[in-house]
Amino acid sequence: MENCIFCKIANGEIPAATLYEDEDFRVILDLGPASKGHALILPKTHAANIYEMSDELAAKAMVLAKKMATVMTETLKCDGLNIVQNNGEPAGQTVFHFHMHLIPRYKNDGVGITWTPGKLTEEEKEEILAKVKA
Ligand code: AMP
Ligand code: ZN
Repeated sequence: MENCIFCKIANGEIPAATLYEDEDFRVILDLGPASKGHALILPKTHAANIYEMSDELAAKAMVLAKKMATVMTETLKCDGLNIVQNNGEPAGQTVFHFHMHLIPRYKNDGVGITWTPGKLTEEEKEEILAKVKA
């Protein structure tokens, strides 16, 4: 897609620190890392978000996330790793080309990927089950 920065990076038109590349994806270092080694999985074809992804590419992205998480944990010696994927502005998405964040975690690193737990009420539970459950 024209004027999509991640399309340009994924396809090599704009240089980026590349950790991995295959015919479908490029994995790059995030320029604004949450922690040491924060990387992004970028598909080479444009999809704005998960809703626009083909099932086939979505499945490949998850397999690659697992592979990268394993390699990064071994080589960076991190103590854990978050896989984060934002869809839509309210969810924190700022670049509208699907990407998965791989965020290595280190003991006491202070990286805040948390929320304050609420309480699932009976009423809300029933409402959601009625709407969503297939
Ligand atoms: P999100 O908020 O999920 O859309 O994530 C966008 C991410 O892309 C942020 O973590 C940014 O730091 C990162 N980012 C934006 N532009 C670039 C770029 N040119 N190269 C590498 N990372 C980028
Ligand atoms: Zn794009």
